[in-house]
Amino acid sequence: TEFISANDLASFMDVSVNEVIKVCLNMGMFVSINQRLDAEAITVIADEFGYDVEFLSAEEEDTVIEIEDNEEDLQPRAPIVTIMGHVDHGKTSLLDYIRNASVAKGEAGGITQHIGAYDVMTKSGKRVTFLDTPGHEAFTAMRARGAKITDIAIIVVAADDSVMPQTKEAINHAQAAGVPIVIALNKIDKPGANPDKVREELSAINVLVEEWGGKYQSQEVSAKTGLGIEDLLEKVLLEAELLDLKANPDRSAVGAVIEASLDKGRGYVTTILVQTGTMQVGDIVLAGPHFGRVKAMTDHRGKKMKKAGPATPVQVLGLTGAPQAGDKIQVMETEREARELATQRQQLAREQSLRTKKHITLDEIGRRL
Ligand code: GDP
Ligand code: MG
Repeated sequence: TEFISANDLASFMDVSVNEVIKVCLNMGMFVSINQRLDAEAITVIADEFGYDVEFLSAEEEDTVIEIEDNEEDLQPRAPIVTIMGHVDHGKTSLLDYIRNASVAKGEAGGITQHIGAYDVMTKSGKRVTFLDTPGHEAFTAMRARGAKITDIAIIVVAADDSVMPQTKEAINHAQAAGVPIVIALNKIDKPGANPDKVREELSAINVLVEEWGGKYQSQEVSAKTGLGIEDLLEKVLLEAELLDLKANPDRSAVGAVIEASLDKGRGYVTTILVQTGTMQVGDIVLAGPHFGRVKAMTDHRGKKMKKAGPATPVQVLGLTGAPQAGDKIQVMETEREARELATQRQQLAREQSLRTKKHITLDEIGRRL
């Protein structure tokens, strides 16, 4: 059996795929980026990087049931977007502007709290979900746990600055994950802004924008004045349309942990992104090595929710521990089943942490959501 591609193996080990290819060449193996590797090759390569690999067969793996959805049960869902780019190019400002603009549009209260993800309604009445985690983390930590949750990446480049190392890194991460990119040329309000210079620098790293005949959508924006942001969102939605994103809202929920913490008054507070299905208050969930019954759910404005459908971020109370970002969340039939699986996972984690060698566990990766 072939398990994962050279590219995936590289990301599991947090090294570049080029390093993997180089190591392979040194051993006389010619491996291409997307080539799937068998167990023997994975073991040998991982060993070169100081990893020991454990292969789980389908039987040994969790008994969590993956429900295959029928085509006719699938409905369109909102895109999940991550904003990435070099430090100080305006990621936080852009997110803040988008969030505040949407708050101003209605919904009483309006005090947003940081929950690591939020959804907004665009002027055209479509929903877009943003992950408010450092982009790098969204793409490495979460991916290492098998969670692929970003549909589209907005790469922010300050128009009064240049394509920087972290800009390139962000583009590489998005490309490696096969996630479409929309370029935001930010700080266009500044006198020193020179978006053409940035377009030129982007073309030099093979990111040719549409205006110049390339395939990448870009938009001049100002996170300070709001100029161009509505257009940016429309371009994101256009990209989403091409992806034809769908999920089945009428099944038990499956999702990913965005962040989790312990709150003195409320216990464990977990932000979950529901990916498919609908999560409801009262559901029993398995979340990585933890479980619990959903006592309450709120959105990023602190508003209580009874249900959360696909591509909806929710803050959940009721787990018995704090899972890690990227851990999978799954609604279970019974509390006993959830507890057993959680306990198994905790044991596995304990055993693994006892080993001296770095360790990765692979299942047949096709099973990832
Ligand atoms: P991050 O590190 O990418 O999250 O960048 P920040 O959002 O923290 O922005 C860095 C600095 O640039 C802050 O002082 C922002 O106020 C400023 N800034 C961000 N976007 C704009 C913009 O569109 N125009 C102007 N004039 N300043 C901006
Ligand atoms: Mg920031």
